[in-house]
Amino acid sequence: MQNYEMLVDRIVAVAGIERDEVERRIEAKKAKLSGLISKEGAAQIIAAELGISFENQDLKVGELMSGMRRVNIVGKIVKLFPVREFSKNGREGKVANFVLADETGSTRVVLWDVNHIELIENGAIKEGNVVDIKNGSTRDGEIHLSGFSDLEKSNVVMGDVKNEAVVSEGNLGDARQGQNIKVRGTIVQIFQPRFYSVCPECNKKVVDEGGAYKCVEHGKIVPKERAILNFVLDDGAETMRVVMFSDQINALIPEADLKDEAKVLVFRDDLMGSEVYLSGRVQRNKLFDNLEIVASGVERVDVEKLIGELNSNS
Ligand SMILES: [Zn+2]
Repeated sequence: MQNYEMLVDRIVAVAGIERDEVERRIEAKKAKLSGLISKEGAAQIIAAELGISFENQDLKVGELMSGMRRVNIVGKIVKLFPVREFSKNGREGKVANFVLADETGSTRVVLWDVNHIELIENGAIKEGNVVDIKNGSTRDGEIHLSGFSDLEKSNVVMGDVKNEAVVSEGNLGDARQGQNIKVRGTIVQIFQPRFYSVCPECNKKVVDEGGAYKCVEHGKIVPKERAILNFVLDDGAETMRVVMFSDQINALIPEADLKDEAKVLVFRDDLMGSEVYLSGRVQRNKLFDNLEIVASGVERVDVEKLIGELNSNS
């Protein structure tokens, strides 16, 4: 549920409040929390305060997160795979799966129930159909349907859909080099920020020639300093080192504040133990010969806690 626009749309639709007013409330909430949370976070708090639950709502593919129960979703089958038979632990069974897409992205749907699989086998549900799913659950970036789930052909007419896998939420244990992943985890260790010099023109690393700085492209320059921050994320099963550069750091603390030891202390103290959604690219650290994540997004999870604090303060 990360997409700000989608959250606002939903609040507007469900609460029947004008869009301008919803956005005004989100901004006010963000200001009240001293900008400690993202716009998405503030929107989630507003939704919760308005009593909007996402549980009985139809979700969009782009809103799915791992571990959701009772997922309702409408989408178009853009790819249907042949039904497979398997035998596991002496038990024979069938499994079917297809790729479901809507205007926000696509995801794989896995069918385990014989009645659902029969709909595929007898052609009642085909590739290109729009289907209505109720009570699915999400797991490893897929929607799984059990005997408690419903699968029906829908009357909804869908226009263009986006057949593009949404970055799947995963576990650190499944992380592979080169993959873009999104993980929910807790920050268990934060290292001292480090700085390096870049060219103010092109932001590329500069060569230090005994105190005189030189950019390959721009010659002699007065460098500016950029911060690197490393921390260790724990997803409950595994830990992995994460590297943050300026853009992500600035979303949490003004980069320049990392030069101030007192501010760094407060910042680290505050961030330590925080639960975050981390997006990033998995790469191999050649120095340590292990996998690490280069962050492209870090967002705090503790919305419920903030709601609790708000209610006790006001
Ligand atoms: Zn340069």
